[in-house]
Amino acid sequence: MRLILLGPPGAGKGTQAAFLTQHFGIPQISTGDMLRAAVKAGTPLGIEAKKVMDAGGLVSDEIIIGLVQDRLKQPDCAGGYLFDGFPRTIPQADALKSAGVKLDYVVEIEVPEEDIIERMSGRRVHQPSGRSYHVRFNPPKVAGHDDVTGEELIQRDDDREETVRHRLSVYREQTRPLVDYYSTWAQQNAAEAPKYRKISGVGAVDEIKSRLFEAVN
Ligand code: ADP
Ligand code: ADP
Ligand code: ADP
Repeated sequence: MRLILLGPPGAGKGTQAAFLTQHFGIPQISTGDMLRAAVKAGTPLGIEAKKVMDAGGLVSDEIIIGLVQDRLKQPDCAGGYLFDGFPRTIPQADALKSAGVKLDYVVEIEVPEEDIIERMSGRRVHQPSGRSYHVRFNPPKVAGHDDVTGEELIQRDDDREETVRHRLSVYREQTRPLVDYYSTWAQQNAAEAPKYRKISGVGAVDEIKSRLFEAVN
């Protein structure tokens, strides 16, 4: 299985990615997680990316495409992969296409903007794994630190309301055009075009999970 999860920040891509990757035994390629790892490690790329991420902007296509190209060379990608938070711009999608990276599905998860602010403000993240929780909608089993390592859950620097609003406008302008990009490509019935599916991301985590499994069935 080779797929992209497309949708605004806070749509639940990371949450749902965990179910799909487990079921299909494929790696999750989250450019956001990769960048946060670089920030934590304090690499030059991380130091550069942190400024952009904290401001809610997009890291340059060149950097992102390089990261993904390297990641795809790893042996665990041979049997499939799930992209989460990538591609985010037309040039990133074009780079995938021209590199001949195969895709079976692009699944768009739709969530209205009103819900997103609420989701992001309650988001708490287990940093070592990248797993996210919500203080009300998807609480960790033990408040504050449920996860295998028992480490504290943190709030991301870029989940402040003001930054979230900016990230949403960046989504609308730079990422949303990918909806047209992939749905148009799918309609052309080209052999290499991934199937396009759109599901509602509103409802309980389990309901969305069922919709998602049905969409890629
Ligand atoms: P979310 O899960 O909330 O959508 P991500 O973890 O995917 O956020 O991304 C966090 C930040 O990392 C983004 O706001 C952006 O600054 C940067 N980033 C992640 N993926 C990309 C990408 N494909 N292109 C450019 N910037 C990216
Ligand atoms: P298991 O081996 O326990 O059946 P899988 O690895 O097959 O789990 O699947 C991973 C997760 O996805 C599990 O939580 C499973 O319940 C869920 N899942 C698998 N298929 C579907 C489906 N068709 N609809 C909803 N959830 C599913
Ligand atoms: P993304 O990766 O698309 O940015 P996340 O998976 O991190 O999104 O989810 C964003 C926030 O919303 C997290 O706090 C998560 O626990 C919560 N969340 C995920 N799915 C749902 C849902 N179906 N209903 C309510 N909140 C959700």
